[in-house]
Amino acid sequence: MEKLPDMAEQSIVIALTKGRILKETLPLFERAGIRPLEDIEQSRKLIFDTNVPNVRMMVIRGADVPTYVEFGSADLGVVGKDLLMEYGEAAFYEPLDLGIARCRLMTAGPVGAGPSPGRLRVASKFVNIARRHFAGEGVQAEIVKLNGGLELAPIMGLADHIVDIVDTGNTLRANGLEPLDLIAEISSRIIVNKASMKMKHGQIAELLQALKTAVETES
Ligand code: AMP
Repeated sequence: MEKLPDMAEQSIVIALTKGRILKETLPLFERAGIRPLEDIEQSRKLIFDTNVPNVRMMVIRGADVPTYVEFGSADLGVVGKDLLMEYGEAAFYEPLDLGIARCRLMTAGPVGAGPSPGRLRVASKFVNIARRHFAGEGVQAEIVKLNGGLELAPIMGLADHIVDIVDTGNTLRANGLEPLDLIAEISSRIIVNKASMKMKHGQIAELLQALKTAVETES
């Protein structure tokens, strides 16, 4: 009789967000007992074997992590809550808050500008979040999609307000803007593909437990 593959031999792919989140993610995974076999930050490769057999890490832009995980090309992902809120959160399980890369998603506008007469124009890369936020506040707003350098939009008269990530607030201040409304507290989360959670449950549960312990024991 043909032998069924051992559960422990199923391959697991973890999609990591590159950039500042990666710098905080790798030490956390290391404490959970998983480390890439080469230096991710020094390599041009995008997928890496780890010290755990059959567990690989891929490194991509945060905005692409939900897509890889929803379609099952990656089983797990590490991604900021801002991008999950923008993508739509029903597509996967979100079992663990890693508590890293903390920041706030806020509206901001020119210092002392006061309420804008008439319809507000808002620039953001988070167009879905911005639309939901202003609709929830009962404010008529036209949302304009930009991909970066949002702080320029009010200076150049393209928008009245922006919706953006704020950490220290230095970027806003340097551009004559001030934070207005808090939309959400942000940190990076683990997301899991729904089918993988069923098909590879033992392995994924073990991994999540190790990561949870690593988060809780962070000094
Ligand atoms: P700050 O000047 O410290 O308020 O940082 C704001 C800028 O840094 C924003 O334009 C964000 O794009 C970026 N930023 C800060 N924290 C994060 C984070 N946790 N994840 C992604 N981008 C961030």
